[in-house]
Amino acid sequence: MADLSSKRTPGRVVTDSMIGLKLPDYARLSARVATVLGQNPSPFTGPGTNTYLLGKERRQMLLDTGQGAAVYPDLLARALAELCDTDELDRIVLTHAHADHIGGVRQVRDKFGPLEALKKPWPEHDEAGGALTPLDAQSEIAGDGVTLVAIFTPGHAPDHLCYYLKEERALFTGDVVLGAGTTVIPEDSGDLGQYMDSLRRLLELDLETIYPGHGPVIREPAKKIREYIAHRELRENQIISALKDGPLDAMEIVKQIYTDVPEYLHQAAASSVRSHLKKLRNEGRVREHESRWSLN
Ligand SMILES: [Zn+2]
Repeated sequence: MADLSSKRTPGRVVTDSMIGLKLPDYARLSARVATVLGQNPSPFTGPGTNTYLLGKERRQMLLDTGQGAAVYPDLLARALAELCDTDELDRIVLTHAHADHIGGVRQVRDKFGPLEALKKPWPEHDEAGGALTPLDAQSEIAGDGVTLVAIFTPGHAPDHLCYYLKEERALFTGDVVLGAGTTVIPEDSGDLGQYMDSLRRLLELDLETIYPGHGPVIREPAKKIREYIAHRELRENQIISALKDGPLDAMEIVKQIYTDVPEYLHQAAASSVRSHLKKLRNEGRVREHESRWSLN
């Protein structure tokens, strides 16, 4: 029998990756949910942002809008006709103000009329969405045979809402939980402590399905959320171990512990490492001197 105690610590707990992942341009996912791909593939968005159509019949709600890709509105119209038998949208709900989620609001309105768009305000970043209707945590949004509950989940972004679809016990997670790989916690506007709290609160929901902002549908929600929590705890432990040999800057830490991540993602990894370091500093466990970090 293998001696597990002597096994090296794994580099990551989330083993899948967004690299090379392909998704269809649009597809029906359930009686109430269809998806349309935002047509904005990149190393950070994977195959692109997932946008979702929600409703039983003619009145469809659009959840997130992609980045503003020129081909998206026509694709959305085609998906509405083929998958929902309608040419109308009812309104827009948004998970957060990052450009790959809010960036398509204007062009969707250009094509479908002056739709109401709801989100939790983040004044410095909301401009791209034009006129927005403020939405609070725990608000309920009723559509055609669908009821969404907004759940405040800060950490990836300070305005982030997930949406719980009551009729299907499904959660739209935006960038909090992704269908593949892990999410970036930006060092400036992100907050890893809040992010961990958000994940733990999502774990308390009774969930059957997660519809993420990027990557494929998640059919084992609790397992995936636990993986995400374990992944961050692993990174935190790796950072603390790396600092035991003396002070390091964020990129030196990345080079030591992100050995499984391609080099073009190291800047993003460094941003995540600095988010970890900020959290550890808030907890009094590390200190910073001239961009180098050491244990307290
Ligand atoms: Zn985001």
